[in-house]
Amino acid sequence: MPLNIAVIGAGIVGVCSASYLQREGHSITIFDPVPPGGSCSFGNLGSLSPGSCVPLAMPGVLRKVPKWLLDREGPLHLAAKRLPAALPWLVRFAAAASPARVARIADALGALHSRVFEAYAPLLKSAGAEHLVERPGQLYVFETEESFQHGAMELALRRKRGERQEVLGADELRQFEPALALRCARGVFLPDAGHCVDPEALVRRFAEAFARAGGRIVSQCVTGLSVDGEGVSLRTESALRRFDRVVIAGGAWSNALLRPLGASVPLESLRGYHAVLRRAGRMPRMAIRFTEAKIMATPMAMGIRIGGTIEIAGLAAPPRPDRAKALAALGARMFVEVDAADFTEWMGHRPGTPDSLPVIGPLARHPWVICAFGHGQTGLTAGAITGRLVADHVAARAAGFDVSPYLPARFGV
Ligand SMILES: Cc1cc2nc3c(=O)[nH]c(=O)nc-3n(C[C@H](O)[C@H](O)[C@H](O)COP(=O)(O)OP(=O)(O)OC[C@H]3O[C@@H](n4cnc5c(N)ncnc54)[C@H](O)[C@@H]3O)c2cc1C
Repeated sequence: MPLNIAVIGAGIVGVCSASYLQREGHSITIFDPVPPGGSCSFGNLGSLSPGSCVPLAMPGVLRKVPKWLLDREGPLHLAAKRLPAALPWLVRFAAAASPARVARIADALGALHSRVFEAYAPLLKSAGAEHLVERPGQLYVFETEESFQHGAMELALRRKRGERQEVLGADELRQFEPALALRCARGVFLPDAGHCVDPEALVRRFAEAFARAGGRIVSQCVTGLSVDGEGVSLRTESALRRFDRVVIAGGAWSNALLRPLGASVPLESLRGYHAVLRRAGRMPRMAIRFTEAKIMATPMAMGIRIGGTIEIAGLAAPPRPDRAKALAALGARMFVEVDAADFTEWMGHRPGTPDSLPVIGPLARHPWVICAFGHGQTGLTAGAITGRLVADHVAARAAGFDVSPYLPARFGV
């Protein structure tokens, strides 16, 4: 039976959820005061990686916390001011880092991400956006043999779950990617990965296709939710509207929507920055991860986008332009023929759960409310498959793989 469904949030996750639900014949309204793809989904690095399955919390992570606090320029910085508010999240984060939990989380992330291209295919086709996704593979580079050995555990986790990897020596690497200026001891080529050349345009194109097919996009903030036996009432700045179901795809802001229902999940903004080097004489052929710096550089329509790193400083603290500048400088080290002075910068809020798994599925006490947020560092990769799972939940249909690890019930909601 066609349902009247509200989707809150027009990021990659909300728009993919709306698109998959629309394909089932439901009547869908998206709410967001920000234009489609204007929040975190605007500035990601475009990586589409079917083999990515390594959570942020890995064994030994607790030992690193003092360094994160002290090193403002490090790849992961925890702002001292944020520590009291983030502490419960950090405790859960540390608990997720045991070897047994990491193995289970990697299985669940792998199951989701391995479906990246099959899940995007129908949406790309109907939006006429196939040109926005390229599949040349990805390259991981290691400056020293020592850091390659250090990364062995993560590579093994991925390989064990089926990822193809080809190890390259220093000379092979230079021939393989001539745009690379960085002198590296080793590289690992991942032939099955790809990237999006303009993540904001991707969401925009999907939203346009959704609107062409009769979907509504309302440029308003949802300020309240209430649930009864029949459905959900949703309050915006100007009206109170009823729906049969609501999908919460509010990214890092999703908890504010759950609170009126007496629910909340551990969700922390994992702030990330990018710099786009607009003038590059020679573009790399594929996305390249500079492993020591924990950054990725992706060839995009607007230049080489460099980013990554995590800052835990909450939703309200202003961005720190020095972090984006440092990324531009790293870009100049990585590539030949780039103008490091000519760059644009950006900061976004990744919606991070402590176990690196997204929250997908209905609330246990309010089954009309379906969660679709918390994708952290891989929300672009998981956007389309999340949309498909949301449609499966609404249809009460089996997904064909175990989706229990993503349910909000793991956080008691
Ligand atoms: C630097 C960086 C690099 C990244 N690189 C990659 C990558 O290479 N590959 C990858 O897979 N992922 C990557 N990510 C992660 C990815 O971008 C995110 O996981 C993803 O964008 C999250 O999408 P979303 O739709 O959940 O959230 P968002 O895009 O933030 O959208 C949520 C929307 O909800 C709206 N909203 C919130 N509350 C309300 C409300 N009350 N009423 C109405 N609307 C509301 C917001 O306005 C917002 O527009 C990266 C992230 C960063 C920061």
